[in-house]
Amino acid sequence: MLLTDVLLLDYKRCQRRAFLNVYGDSLEKNAERDFLLKLRQENQLHIATTLEKFYPHYQKPQYNVSNFEDRAKATQALMEQGVSCIYKGTLFESHEFRQQYRPYSSISLFGDNYRFACLGKPTLLIKHPGKSKFGDWFYSPVSIHLGRRPKPEYKIVAAFYAYLLGNLQETPPPTPTLILRQQNHYEVDLNQWLPRLQTTATDCLEMLTHSQEPEVFISRQRCNLCHWYNHCYAIAQSQQHLSLVPGVTPSRYQSLLDIGVETVESLADACPVNMGEIIGSDLANQLQQQAQSIIDNRALRKSQFQGNIHRLIPTQEFELYFDIEAEPERNLDYLLGVLLIERSTQTETFYPLLAENPEDEQQIWQQFLDLVNEYKDAPIFHFSEYEVETMKRLAKLYQTPQGQLESLLSRFVDLHHRVVTSVILPVESYSLKSLANWIGFHWRDPGIGGDQCVCWYDQWLKTGDRTLLASILRYNEDDCRATLYLKNWLLEFLG
Ligand code: SF4
Repeated sequence: MLLTDVLLLDYKRCQRRAFLNVYGDSLEKNAERDFLLKLRQENQLHIATTLEKFYPHYQKPQYNVSNFEDRAKATQALMEQGVSCIYKGTLFESHEFRQQYRPYSSISLFGDNYRFACLGKPTLLIKHPGKSKFGDWFYSPVSIHLGRRPKPEYKIVAAFYAYLLGNLQETPPPTPTLILRQQNHYEVDLNQWLPRLQTTATDCLEMLTHSQEPEVFISRQRCNLCHWYNHCYAIAQSQQHLSLVPGVTPSRYQSLLDIGVETVESLADACPVNMGEIIGSDLANQLQQQAQSIIDNRALRKSQFQGNIHRLIPTQEFELYFDIEAEPERNLDYLLGVLLIERSTQTETFYPLLAENPEDEQQIWQQFLDLVNEYKDAPIFHFSEYEVETMKRLAKLYQTPQGQLESLLSRFVDLHHRVVTSVILPVESYSLKSLANWIGFHWRDPGIGGDQCVCWYDQWLKTGDRTLLASILRYNEDDCRATLYLKNWLLEFLG
């Protein structure tokens, strides 16, 4: 068995993912998504920029074949020469090495219960003065990541590199460094992370050696970009798995299992007192209503909701429905889409305020302010906090007076907030897509999401292909229309 850095990274993110990567049928993997491809390219660019800034004189190991043992030998040859910075090195440790050669206590990090080799590919190996088997120098690992935070999975993998390097150069494991998105450096505390590596690696090997397939648990945030998503989702659906019930988190799921609640039906029928004792009565009540809604496939008014929906969701002669498309990598909001409704004439006009070039963001911000000022009394409906946060960002960036921003934001009505505080729908998530689809709204281009628009915009900037812009505009207009549809449905349902 081969314990790799990639396997550890996946295991830390999702144990099931690591299992499927070894035992799964690769034909069941999702096709590569444009968005993932884009993330990979951005990561490469980030590495290249970091190298240029901090380590312009790196060397790469030279090898003719792509066998990782030869790559490891080529890496070691550079370390023996004392090269100051090695890019794309390979660290390999065979099972036999561990059996025969035990210079440091760290060697028994994983015990001897399993027969496995280790493979790691740190972004960089950096030379320092000191002692090692190579001479008066030793190496420490550097990992370059696009993430903003030093995530636990980065630290585990960095500790893995330190462990392999220590054994290879016959030193204690050297302190690893993470270089993150803003090119900030972060040192990993090995006192803390070597023991965690030991636990993680041992558990991972145990799972793989005994072919213990971890249960499916669909978590939107974690599963969204996973290439096993369709495979896992189909299983979860066929089992009517509780992770598909909004509000059931992994820890709540465990608590529910502890009291014998394993299915959506048993969740709806469970004793509220028992559940309340374990997860709190408000949450128990909410989850039970959610389960009931799913079983009956019908929307419910929240028992706690007492408000006057017409006061919370105003109806006016003019109304604006607003949705933004952004490019996070450039910190750019390139499309401010506004659908104007005039009730008396039953007209609907869509204004796609588009920055064809990133430099045009200020211009579309001003166009947006002019448009909403033309309809001073019109409420501005949107879905989620993002629109409000963006208004604040753009106002600050382009020096819009605070008073003007405050008066603008006082017109904003967040329909996501209105929905989650007033109704329960038989959906798997309270995203605009899920809600609008259930109430009968359909996007003209099904299966497209905001992340695809991010890729299209990026491609537009590179190719100048206007059909990409047209697709983005259509998607954005449908988002605005879905928001309108949701508003009308909510008023009718609660009115
Ligand atoms: S889809 Fe989710 S549960 Fe399945 S392997 Fe991927 S992250 Fe894990």
